Amino acid sequence: MTLKKYQLKRKFNKTPEPKGKLAKISKSRFVIHKHDASHLHYDFRLEMDGVLKSWAIPKEPPKTKGIKRLAIQVEDHPIDYINFEGIIPDGNYGAGKVEIWDKGVYQGSNKTLKHKSKKMKSGLDSFKFELKGKKLKGEYVLVRLKDKNWLLFKV
Ligand code: MN
Repeated sequence: MTLKKYQLKRKFNKTPEPKGKLAKISKSRFVIHKHDASHLHYDFRLEMDGVLKSWAIPKEPPKTKGIKRLAIQVEDHPIDYINFEGIIPDGNYGAGKVEIWDKGVYQGSNKTLKHKSKKMKSGLDSFKFELKGKKLKGEYVLVRLKDKNWLLFKV
């Protein structure tokens, strides 16, 4: 895991976002940021392997079954980002307002997550987890379609 991509995209003397570092211990939290950038989108982030694995979702994440959302995997974010809210100033990467839309914990066995996160790196597969947030609750699946394109939906 590395935060190089995340850090290269940002000038930390110009954005209020955290520079962050790799964490030794991962809990199992998630956050969804509502990000009013050039296009409004939702950033879905799962704490895993010392970083926040992140996906940009162009529309509101589904609270109910039957709605599938495209989720585009983006660079890993530092775990410090989990509490970030603020305004990224004009001229910076992702300029616009960032607010927390939902947060909570997710569940899956450690073994499964490790196994699955290895698969994520090699570009395969899907994984299932239970979200315990305020807006999103229940079993969800992320399925990789191709490259950075995934689908997120409730099952
Ligand atoms: Mn974003």
